[in-house]
Amino acid sequence: MSVARTPLVAGNWKMHKTVTEAEEFIQGLLPRVSTSEGVEVAICPAFTALQAMVDSTRGSRVQVFAQTMHQAGHGAFTGEVSAAMLTELDVHGVILGHSERRELFGETDKALALKVPAALEAGLVPILCVGETDEERERGDTERKLRHQIQEGLSKVQAAEIPRVVIAYEPIWAIGTGKVASVEQAQEAAGFIRALVADRSAEQAEHVRVLYGGSVKAQNARELLALPDVDGALVGGASLEAESFAAIVAAAG
Ligand code: PEP
Repeated sequence: MSVARTPLVAGNWKMHKTVTEAEEFIQGLLPRVSTSEGVEVAICPAFTALQAMVDSTRGSRVQVFAQTMHQAGHGAFTGEVSAAMLTELDVHGVILGHSERRELFGETDKALALKVPAALEAGLVPILCVGETDEERERGDTERKLRHQIQEGLSKVQAAEIPRVVIAYEPIWAIGTGKVASVEQAQEAAGFIRALVADRSAEQAEHVRVLYGGSVKAQNARELLALPDVDGALVGGASLEAESFAAIVAAAG
């Protein structure tokens, strides 16, 4: 029996938008997505704009996610924030293991194995990002890389909690490059990810949402979001303008 999964379209703003710019964006987005049915919508602002966006989206269909967090509850970790600091703001979830965090800031699978359960325990929805580089795909190492990242990322998550984890398949060669994965590549990877989750629990794997991320635009969203194992999108560049982001949301509904 197939399980209905509500698609999630999340906009990763990265290091874009001051509070003023975020407010301007959200005033443009809210009316555009107010009637989109059957899809969850999230924005992922910088830490500095989280509180303002939580306040401005209260009572709307738009959720607010952070872009990263530390695994520890507190401590001498200059520049980091904890799960409790996010939940106190009423943040809904957090992106974990984005390839830019992995590549530029040394985030490891070992740390992510702690971050995912820490987020869940605090009541946050984690979006765990996984994906291969161009060279890994060329070498035929895509599945090995995804297996490692998924197994590590979920290693300390109780089986019953697995459906609360969202997994984003983001081929690194497609992020910010305009080079989108083909529908075959996206479906193959998303299906493989679901099969990896099924190794932990076949039943829970049916409930896990797998997003595609990597140069999603209004023009290519519909075919990607229609794939059987793709349950939404993690959007970078095209989430910075209310109009293009709303068009992607509409394609998911
Ligand atoms: C991302 O950063 O998660 C991303 C998918 O970026 P873009 O949509 O710009 O490729």
